Amino acid sequence: MTTDVPFRILPRVTDSNRHFWTGGEVGELRFLRCADCGYYIHPPIPICPMDHSKNVAPEAVSGKATLATYSVNYQAWMPGPELPYVVAIVEIVEQPSVRLTTNLVNCPLDEIQIGMPLRVTFEHHEDPEGDVWLPLFEPDPD
Ligand SMILES: [Zn+2]
Repeated sequence: MTTDVPFRILPRVTDSNRHFWTGGEVGELRFLRCADCGYYIHPPIPICPMDHSKNVAPEAVSGKATLATYSVNYQAWMPGPELPYVVAIVEIVEQPSVRLTTNLVNCPLDEIQIGMPLRVTFEHHEDPEGDVWLPLFEPDPD
């Protein structure tokens, strides 16, 4: 077991996505949310697609999600996490239309099930242009 964080290609943090990539610093998974209709907007855009409101701001969700689909990667396509690793698409419980492509971690391959409950865990990467906290997901024991 190593505590080294794997090499990853990091996202470019901008004013419009900073809430998402840095929320992990305080343990929060954050999305833009429309204050008028309650819709979570991801990827972030400044206008709610449901009612065209500009009254949108970042808000933390529970961090709980369900596994929509996944694939197991055995091939080192580029430097990255230890093999094999699981590329997952998860749906947040607050609004399943919000889907994240992420990694499923801390889960034996033979225990993975579509629809299984997950919770967020963050992988901190230091970066001279601004640290990021990648949201990964693991089985939710609750
Ligand atoms: Zn709205």
